[in-house]
Amino acid sequence: MDYDICIIGGGPAGYLAGIRAAQLGATAAVIEMDELGGVCTNRGCIPTKSMLEVVTPILSAARWNDMGLEVHTKLNLSQVLARTRDVVGYIRAGIQSLLDARGVHVIRGKAKFVDRFTVRINERETVSARFMLVATGSIPALPPIDGIGLDGVVTSDGMFTLQQVPETVAIIGGGAIGIEYATILKAFGARKVVIIEFMDRLLPLMDPGLSAFEKVMLEDAGIEVVLSSKAAALSASNKGIRMDLQPSPGTAQAGPQKLDVDKVFVVTGRKPNTGDLGLEPLGISLSKGWIDVNMAMRTGVDSIYAAGDVNGIRLLAHAAFHQGMIAVENMLGARKVFEPVLVPSVVYSKPPVAQVGMDETAAQKAGMDVKTGVFDLAGSPMALVHGDPSGFVKIVAEKKYGLVLGASIAGESAYELISVIAAAMAGEITVDELRRTVFAHPSLSESIAESAWAVDGLSQHTIKNSIP
Ligand SMILES: Cc1cc2nc3c(=O)[nH]c(=O)nc-3n(C[C@H](O)[C@H](O)[C@H](O)COP(=O)(O)OP(=O)(O)OC[C@H]3O[C@@H](n4cnc5c(N)ncnc54)[C@H](O)[C@@H]3O)c2cc1C
Repeated sequence: MDYDICIIGGGPAGYLAGIRAAQLGATAAVIEMDELGGVCTNRGCIPTKSMLEVVTPILSAARWNDMGLEVHTKLNLSQVLARTRDVVGYIRAGIQSLLDARGVHVIRGKAKFVDRFTVRINERETVSARFMLVATGSIPALPPIDGIGLDGVVTSDGMFTLQQVPETVAIIGGGAIGIEYATILKAFGARKVVIIEFMDRLLPLMDPGLSAFEKVMLEDAGIEVVLSSKAAALSASNKGIRMDLQPSPGTAQAGPQKLDVDKVFVVTGRKPNTGDLGLEPLGISLSKGWIDVNMAMRTGVDSIYAAGDVNGIRLLAHAAFHQGMIAVENMLGARKVFEPVLVPSVVYSKPPVAQVGMDETAAQKAGMDVKTGVFDLAGSPMALVHGDPSGFVKIVAEKKYGLVLGASIAGESAYELISVIAAAMAGEITVDELRRTVFAHPSLSESIAESAWAVDGLSQHTIKNSIP
C-alpha cells in the first residue's frame, strides 16, 4: 500500500482529515482536482464573509454618525473582489503549507475508484491505501425551472465574478446563502432585491423565532421577502429577465405574479459530488447520490469512509471539519461518533442569527418537557454601547434538571455567542451552571447568563420576564 489513508477531496473535510492523520502518525495523501480549501475557502464561507465585511461599515455609517464620527462610504466593487481573492489565496496557501509541514502529500487530479483500496488519478497514476476517505463535497443543484439556463441566471458561484452591482435582483431561496447574498447586494447599492422562498417562512430549517426576526431585519433594510411562492418560469424580456411566480401548493397568491429583474441568483440547494467516482460497483450505498454513512462516518464498506457535504448529514464547513477528523480517528482505532445536535447553524446577515441544538418547537415535537428563557438585547449594556440592541438570546432547557438543550441567538456576534452554548451542550451542563459562569462586563456574552436566569423568570436586567 502507498499510504495508510488516501483522502479524495481537499475541502474542509479532506484537508483537516489529512492533518489529523499526520498528527496520529499515519501516512496520508490528499487528492484534489481543483483548489485546496474546497467550496468553503474558494466559493463559500470565506469569500462571502469577506464581502459581508464591507457591508458592515456601509450599514454602520449612520450609526457612527450618531456617535459623533462622520463617515461617508463609497463602494469600489473591483477592489472588494480583489481583496476577497487575496484573502482566499492566503488561506489556500496556508492549507498547502499546513499539509506540507506535516508530510501529507497533495496529489493534483481527479480520482476515481478502481477497487476498495485503490484510486486512479486522471487515468495517469494509481494510489492505494489501507483506508479511503471520500470528501468530495457538493455542487449547486438547479431546480427544474423553465429558462434556468438563461444569461443572467447564476448560482451561488456567480457572486464572486460580478462585474457590477445589478440594479434589480431576484434571489430564489430564502436560506442562509440567499439571505447573505441579499444583504450584500442591497448594501452594495442594488435598488431592488427580492427573496423568493417556497416555504411560509425564511430559514425553514431554523427556529421560527429567528425566521421572524430575520424577515423584519431584511425588510427594514429595504429587501423584499416573498414567501410561499415559487419561481415557475424564467424568460428573457426587454427589461432583463422576467420571472413568473406561482403560490406554493396549498397557499393563495400573496406576492407578485411577475417580476422583472436584471439578475437571478438560484440558491435553492446543493447536490452531492459523487457523480463519476465509481462508488456503486464497490457496494457503497447512496441515497439520491449522498453517501450513506453511520455516525462513525463509515460506509457499508469497512475500508471506506465519507465525510463532509458528500454524506448529506449537515452541509456546513465546521461539520465537515469534525467529520473528517472523526473518520480518520476511527480508521486508526478510535470509536468516535459525530453528534449533529452540537453543530451550530449561522446566518451572517446584519445582524446575524445563529442556532444550536433543539429549538422549543423541535423539543416539544420530540415529546420533551422543556422550559425556555429569553433575554432581549435591549437590556444589554454592550449592545447599547455598540448602538445596535436588536436581537435576543433564547435558551431551551430540559425542565427537571435544567440541562441545556439548545439556543437561538439573534443580534450582533450571534455567530460567536452560539459556540458558548455549543460548549455548554458538549459538556452537558445545566442552566444553573451557566449562571455560575462569570461573564465579563460589559460584553454581549452576559446575555447568555441573563437568558439562563430567564429560564426561571429571574433575568435581572429585564423588567418583566416572559416566563413568570
Ligand atoms: C455561498 C456559500 C457560502 C457558504 N458559507 C458557509 C459558512 O459561512 N459556514 C459554513 O460552515 N459553511 C458554509 N458553506 C458550506 C461549506 O462551504 C461546505 O459545507 C463545505 O465546503 C463542505 O466541505 P467538504 O470538504 O465536504 O466539501 P467541499 O468544500 O465541496 O470540497 C470538496 C473538494 O473535493 C474536490 N473533489 C471533488 N471530486 C473530486 C475527485 N473525484 N477527485 C479529486 N478531488 C475531488 C473538489 O474539487 C473540492 O475541492 C457555504 C457554501 C456556499 C456555497
